[in-house]
Formats: sequence, structure tokens, C-alpha cells
Amino acid sequence: MSLRVGVIGGGQLARMMIAPAVEMGIDLRVLAETEGMAARLAATAVGDYRDEAAVLAFAREVDVITFDHEHVPQPVLRALVDAGVSVHPGPDALQYAQDKLAMRARLAELGAPQPDWAAVRDEAELQAFLDDHGGRAVVKTPRGGYDGKGVRVISNADEAADWLADTAGEPILVEELVSFARELAQQVARRPSGQMVTYPVVETVQRDGVCSEVFAPAPRASERLMEVAARLSTQIAEGLGVTGMLAVELFETDDERILVNELAMRPHNSGHWTQDGAVTSQFEQHLRAVLDLPLGDPSPVAEAAVMVNILGGPQGAQMTDRIAVAIADHPTARIHTYGKEPRPGRKVGHVNAVGELDEAAYIARAAAAHFLT
Ligand code: ADP
Repeated sequence: MSLRVGVIGGGQLARMMIAPAVEMGIDLRVLAETEGMAARLAATAVGDYRDEAAVLAFAREVDVITFDHEHVPQPVLRALVDAGVSVHPGPDALQYAQDKLAMRARLAELGAPQPDWAAVRDEAELQAFLDDHGGRAVVKTPRGGYDGKGVRVISNADEAADWLADTAGEPILVEELVSFARELAQQVARRPSGQMVTYPVVETVQRDGVCSEVFAPAPRASERLMEVAARLSTQIAEGLGVTGMLAVELFETDDERILVNELAMRPHNSGHWTQDGAVTSQFEQHLRAVLDLPLGDPSPVAEAAVMVNILGGPQGAQMTDRIAVAIADHPTARIHTYGKEPRPGRKVGHVNAVGELDEAAYIARAAAAHFLT
């Protein structure tokens, strides 16, 4: 009988696990939130990931549970573990991807480099942090933020008054405003039995808090930078007990120091380039890792890979037309679509191109431009 992996959440990350699962003979099953989601092809159940009974019923039919997102509540995760389900990453690790304050505190214990930060409960505490950090800072809601939602740059404590009022006494996170030279991401895969492999560090470009482009490996990265980023990611994966894929989002400063921004414990947008640019894609690697199978080779297959997100995109039928034009115009571009209804700013697909850096960037951007509305 084939190995059965259950994925909670039916978004594009679950969708992109389907192809490698088929190739490796893995029986992939998805618990989707609603009908018609991105991973509908593998959706064997529809249910609420916050509903303990629904999640447990789904989990009983598989060998291992993993995730498309990090929002499954801790009590539900604990109930799975208590019922003897193999959960990867497990709740002890996942809490640090679910709560940015818990992550900052744990990374501090591990001695990982990160921006100055504090947990603040009221405007007085927040203003004190601002005064100590040149009058500007970044406030973040500890939970539930994504794609820049839940992140705000402020210069006065009253700009976060609504969040402070909403938290029912729970603190919010404030960080120094890092004047970074660029943003990087480092991916590592880790098996429950301990084996780890690291991908080359990549450069990520965000527009309006949303990832728009990724360059792999990060251009002009020194050997030292690549080693430091890889070592940091393996220390974090080990220290936090992460299983599966871990993405460590980083800031690089002008003097080539790196600081941890945040963690994602699943395949991540910064690793989509691996589908066409690495021997083993992050989606295959995640499946191998959560099943405790030997990990695949993370080496790049070309000098460079460039990923450009398709954000927004045209409506329904037009999408199919644009795909036809894009693949005709750019036969070497690899176009990945998520089967989602386009909405302004929504990630509905991405394009990968591999080869020499400038040429790959040109091809990926030109192919993605066909989807601009
Ligand atoms: P999300 O969980 O929404 O992805 P992040 O914490 O990754 O939120 O922040 C989104 C973006 O905001 C980052 O990619 C970065 O561009 C910017 N940002 C976040 N924290 C800081 C910081 N301390 N200093 C400067 N910019 C920041």
C-alpha cells in the first residue's frame, strides 16, 4: 500500500505537492476548507481546520499529517498528537511559526541574530521603544498576519492604538525598523530522524508587503554569507525541532550581517524556484521529510533561477487565453497556476525561468507580464 500523506488546507502549496506525490507514488489527501480550492484535485475531505472532530476523522485515514498553512489551532494539533497521529511539523515547533512573539523569544534563547524587539501592552510601552529606536518602528500582530497584513511602520504610539485595544491585554510585537540592503530567504529540510539539507540562500523582493520576485541563488552572495545563512537555518531547524521544510526569512544589512525576520514551516513562496531550478523541489522535499524518507539533492540545475509571482491576474476565461499566449511567446518559461479566482493583489500563479541570471529574469518577467490586468 502506498504511503498516505494528509495535508490540512487546500491552497496552492497543497496543490503543488500533488505532482511530486504522484511521481513518488504517495497517496496525497487534502482537507480543504471549501469546495473548489486550489488543491481540489486531491481534496478528499472538506472541513474546518479548527474543528477537532473533522480534523481527527481526516487524520485517521493517513500515515502523516502536514500543512498547507500554519493556522491549525494548538489544541487541535495536541489532540492529533494525543490520538497517536504523526504530525509534521509538530505543535511544539509550529507554535513558533504561529506566534511572532513566541518566535522572537525562542530565537533570542538560541542566540539567533534578529532585530531589536519588545512585547508591548500599551501606548506608553510602545512610545518608550520608539523613543529608544530613533522614533520609528515596526509593529506586528503576533498571530494571523500574512503578506504584510498585520505589519505597520509607525512613528507614534497612537498609530497602533487600534491593535493595542483589540488584543484583550495580550502584548503586540514591536521591532526596530531595519534599514536592510535586501531581503533573503534560506530554506532547509529536516527529517524527524535528523537529516537536514539546505538550499542556496535566495534574494526575495517584496512589493507592498507581498513577495513579487525571487532570485536563486541570491546574486552577489559571498561564500561566507551563504555559509552563515545555511548554518543559521540548520541551527533554527534543530533548535525548534522543525520537521519538513523550513523557510527562514532574513534581512541583509549593508555590512553583510543577517537578521531573522520570520519563519515558515512548510513550502514557501521563496522556494517556488526549486520546482524548475533544483534537482529536488521543495514540494517533493517536504513530502520526503514529513515521511522520514531520505532527502533529495537540493542543488541548483542551472546558474540561476528566477521566480516572478502572478498577482491579481485576469478573470476566468481570459486566464486560459493568457496562458496560451505566454507559453507560445516564452517556450522556456515554466508557468504555474493555482486555479484561483483572480482578485487584485492575490497570488494566482508564478513563472519560473532558469539559465543565466539576466536572461532568466527577462524571460520570467516577460512571461508574467502577460497576466497583468
Ligand atoms: P508577514 O507575516 O505579513 O509576511 P513580515 O513580518 O514578513 O510579515 O513582514 C512583511 C514585510 O515587512 C517584510 O518582508 C519586510 O519587507 C517588512 N518588514 C517586516 N519587519 C520589518 C522590520 N523590522 N524592519 C523593516 N522592515 C520590516
